[in-house]
Amino acid sequence: MRHAVYSEFERDLAPELDAIRAQGLHRVLREIGSPQSAHVRIGRRDFINFSANDYLGLANHPRVRAAAIRAIQCYGVGAGASRLICGSLSPHQRLEEDLAEYKDTPAALTFSSGYATALGAITALLGRDDIIVIDKLVHACIVDAARLSGAQLRVYRHNDLNHLEAILQWAAKTGAPARANTRPRVLVVTESVFSMDGDIAPLREIVGLKHRYGAWLMVDEAHATGLYGEHRRGLVDEFSLSPEVEIQMGTLGKALGSCGGYICGARALIDLLINRARSFIFSTAPLPAHAAAARAAIRIVRSRLGERLSHRLWQRVHEVRQGLGNTRFECPPGHSPILPLIVGPEQAALRAALELRRHGIHLPAIRYPSVARNRARLRLTLSAAHSPGDIRQLLTVLAGLAAFNAQRQPRGARRSTLDPQPSTLRASTG
Ligand SMILES: *Cc1c(COP(=O)(O)O)cnc(C)c1O
Repeated sequence: MRHAVYSEFERDLAPELDAIRAQGLHRVLREIGSPQSAHVRIGRRDFINFSANDYLGLANHPRVRAAAIRAIQCYGVGAGASRLICGSLSPHQRLEEDLAEYKDTPAALTFSSGYATALGAITALLGRDDIIVIDKLVHACIVDAARLSGAQLRVYRHNDLNHLEAILQWAAKTGAPARANTRPRVLVVTESVFSMDGDIAPLREIVGLKHRYGAWLMVDEAHATGLYGEHRRGLVDEFSLSPEVEIQMGTLGKALGSCGGYICGARALIDLLINRARSFIFSTAPLPAHAAAARAAIRIVRSRLGERLSHRLWQRVHEVRQGLGNTRFECPPGHSPILPLIVGPEQAALRAALELRRHGIHLPAIRYPSVARNRARLRLTLSAAHSPGDIRQLLTVLAGLAAFNAQRQPRGARRSTLDPQPSTLRASTG
């Protein structure tokens, strides 16, 4: 009986799955039988892992692990319910105090993920009479939040200040009569370090524009927190813009090695989110162990150890950028631990990833919808946990991969599936 229903349902779904496969976009989960670290175990083999966002190697750091274990011993595992329903556990409270101090803002609020953070914060702040202006390459959670808010959505070309200004001019003129006394709210959202391209937003100029046109600014520091600035707070702080950015957002799941998301900003912002952010109100609080682990990670980031780890990370970035010169892979210039090796066609990126895997390198292809169609890439991320030997092996394999590729390429057939097409690469740097 049950099987009959299942098979009919599966027939309904099959064409869509077939279409995904036909486009080279089908994905499956790959089981990892070890901690997430610079090396991972897949099946019976060990791989060097160049795919995680664990930039400082804190996801499996002894001090972070110990903090999580202690929290489980003191507070158990589950949080029981939403924090507004059954009370807010001490680890969550302490984490928010620590975050506010770390980011040098009056207050902070945490959510169960970065995704839930964007959804909750943007829909709490904007409604149908408002306008949201986003960079073309912002993360899916911001796009989804913008749509869910019902606000008018305008997208500016990636890091294009002229386009942003044109939209802000339009926004300043529009909408005013719709609500008698209130102007529409206009919110600009950008990432500081872009997740798939590893490039950096012109934050100073964006702040200048948002002042000129009376807009608010939200900056997603998912890939900058823990890495930039004297105190490793992120790029907003490195550019000394903290008091000028209304909403600072980030995740606890990348350099901070744990899980969850946060908003840092004014006390009133945090109070409003506690009362209006639906992904906060209607969701069970994260594990107290998540919060305790994130606190331990923040403590490390702010310490001398954090300074050493970030120094080591930037050293690895330098080594790889230098070494790429001996391969046929090119990477757009930038200053982040995310190095996109753009391949282009989805199938070609998949084959390149497969070839790397044969050589013990875990570096999956990133495809649509994570990036635009035909912009598939090997998204290489580095960590302070990588050893110089790991980097040498990566570069040797990448050099061999390009050579292997060139040998097999028939004369004139420039579009080999493994060839990182030079024209695409050049376009991405411009
Ligand atoms: C990863 C990411 C998020 C989502 O954070 P999670 O904690 O993984 O849900 C949000 N924004 C950006 C830019 C990201 O890269």
